[in-house]
Amino acid sequence: MPSIFSHSIFGLVISRLKVQTTKKNLFYFCIILCTIVPDFDVISFYFKIPYSAPFGHRGFSHSILFAIFFSISISILFEKNILSKNFLIYVLIFFSATISHGIFDAMTNGGLGVCFFCPFESKRYFFEFRPIQVSPIGKNFFSKKGLEVILSELIWIWIPSFLFIALVEIFKYKKKNY
Ligand SMILES: [Zn+2]
Repeated sequence: MPSIFSHSIFGLVISRLKVQTTKKNLFYFCIILCTIVPDFDVISFYFKIPYSAPFGHRGFSHSILFAIFFSISISILFEKNILSKNFLIYVLIFFSATISHGIFDAMTNGGLGVCFFCPFESKRYFFEFRPIQVSPIGKNFFSKKGLEVILSELIWIWIPSFLFIALVEIFKYKKKNY
């Protein structure tokens, strides 16, 4: 995975799209949770589940189906009317945050690919374009390798993220002043 910090920053980018909620803090918390929850599957290593298994690392929790289920369950916290347009917007935002995790993982240069179509297909996917250095897990993060990871993430995730936030803000500012 890219580091959890980078997964989260992308979540914050998405959160800029929708902030008219009375539960702002909870909203930000949930967005960040969406971006890192797929990696809670590292617990599978402790249970000796093989990396390549459907419930191994980058397996089901990184799939599109998981992102759909997770985003729907979390959206209920914000909008009770599941048939409303507002609910759909929440689902889309939380879905994007959750699936962004797998997308970034598929752009890393290490480990196995992402099982996007789990449980229907066990194939692991990587994108052709994989500029992000894979992040060491746990305490090894604070090492020279960790530094290389941060640099690659700065270039490929953080800078585009901040540019995107800046663009959204400029757009909002312009809209307000017309
Ligand atoms: Zn991951």
